[in-house]
Amino acid sequence: MENNFSYIDENLRIIRERAGEAFAKYRASEEKVRIMAVTKTVAPEAVNYAVSLGIDLLGENRVQEYLSKKDIYDKSAEVHFIGSLQTNKVKYIIDSVSMIHSVDSLRLGEVISRQAVSHGKTVDVLCEVNIGDEDSKGGVAPSEVGDLIENLAQLDGINVRGLMTIPPPSDSDVFLGRMKELFDRTAQEKKSIVSMDILSMGMTHDYAEAIKYGSHIVRIGTGLFGARNYSNK
Ligand SMILES: *Cc1c(COP(=O)(O)O)cnc(C)c1O
Repeated sequence: MENNFSYIDENLRIIRERAGEAFAKYRASEEKVRIMAVTKTVAPEAVNYAVSLGIDLLGENRVQEYLSKKDIYDKSAEVHFIGSLQTNKVKYIIDSVSMIHSVDSLRLGEVISRQAVSHGKTVDVLCEVNIGDEDSKGGVAPSEVGDLIENLAQLDGINVRGLMTIPPPSDSDVFLGRMKELFDRTAQEKKSIVSMDILSMGMTHDYAEAIKYGSHIVRIGTGLFGARNYSNK
């Protein structure tokens, strides 16, 4: 079967160009911003094609879908879990992901800790923040972030690295700015117990703004792979 993935080349070229412009304009040259390819509904062959173009970080949302694709993935890319995660599914992913972006409760943190310890590994975690206070979204309220981080910092097998958010689609730059403030303040306040160096924010519609506001990982799905087809995953 022949695949034509040339649209991915073009999409990635545009993303690198826009991300590069925002970075050059707003960020210090020694900082780092990684482009994550978000793979939900995308065929593993297309994901591997993106890896062949230099993508070295994949973002997974759904445990079942990930498990059905992971053996086909090019192993050279690192995998992070970014979707909402049920505690009973942690055991299926703990071995093959290096970071979980979506920790929004101590209970989930405890299960990740227990699984990580029993697999003899340490997993990086980010606390997901519901910065727009939207009912439809996961994440803790900004006012709860400090307590959650203090509690997570006590647990073995996990390493708190920072914060993640999905801001409301409208006014996203207001919320991206608030996230940056929250990240800097929390990193400063908690620096004796955790070293926070990752702010994960920015998707297809707002990655350039997210880079402006200090993101270290932009998570891009449709901008790279095209519109998602949920019937064909
Ligand atoms: C789907 C998804 C993305 C990517 O969204 P796009 O708008 O397709 O770029 C990023 N982060 C999370 C958590 C997602 O679920």
